[in-house]
Amino acid sequence: MNTDKLSDRLATVAKYVPEQARMADIGSDHAYLPCYLAKNGRITFAVAGEVAQGPYQSAERNVLSEGLAEMISVRMGDGLEVIKPGEVDCITIAGMGGALISSILENGKEKLSTVKRLVLQPNLSAISIRKWLIKNNWELVAEEIIEEDEKIYEVLIAGQGDAAKPYQKNRDWGLLLGPFLVQQKADAFKKKWTAEKNNWQRIYDALEDATETEETLNKRQELLYKMKIVEEALVSEDS
Ligand code: SAM
Repeated sequence: MNTDKLSDRLATVAKYVPEQARMADIGSDHAYLPCYLAKNGRITFAVAGEVAQGPYQSAERNVLSEGLAEMISVRMGDGLEVIKPGEVDCITIAGMGGALISSILENGKEKLSTVKRLVLQPNLSAISIRKWLIKNNWELVAEEIIEEDEKIYEVLIAGQGDAAKPYQKNRDWGLLLGPFLVQQKADAFKKKWTAEKNNWQRIYDALEDATETEETLNKRQELLYKMKIVEEALVSEDS
């Protein structure tokens, strides 16, 4: 991967950045995403935010060597604190856990009033993001799931709107599996949830042999519930 050729994962994120956006890529690391978008005339301005020194320097090096310093501002800081109010209309956050992505959005809420699109790529726990979006009235407008190098990634795209709308058919399925993904049932989706279900079954079986406490009972109930959701959703025709 470099500034000319993104991984399939980041290319999927890039696809959802609106034309001529003013964007912030939070946790940009090497800044490949904003560099790629700038070089292809897709954005007019970007902030590449990084909290760690090494990735920050790598982003700065790449932006300078590509001659993009006028268009991409590399900034060191935690989450959305690197953005000035009103500066961007699209935010991308990719390659982190869903809980961390949600906490970055939560801690920088006041910077989101002028943002029209969020493109979020959690490595795990997309459910944390879906819950955050609902709570904060962001409408999930699209989702993708892809497999690359034997890993499966989800990409969630949201805009300001009616947060409840995507979950009207089945809220529990939508929250856990993704309201768009559960309808599409792509091969990567089936592979991911079959593996998760098998993993939960193994944990459930192990808990059956463990000493029975309120905690193990609750855990088993939760696993049963999630396995049921996945089993039903995988075979359903309509969701
Ligand atoms: N976004 C790139 C991608 O998807 O390829 C890089 C992903 S990398 C695994 C995660 C990056 O997020 C790291 O460089 C890390 O330093 C940065 N990061 C983690 N927490 C952050 C925060 N609160 N604010 C800004 N950057 C953060």
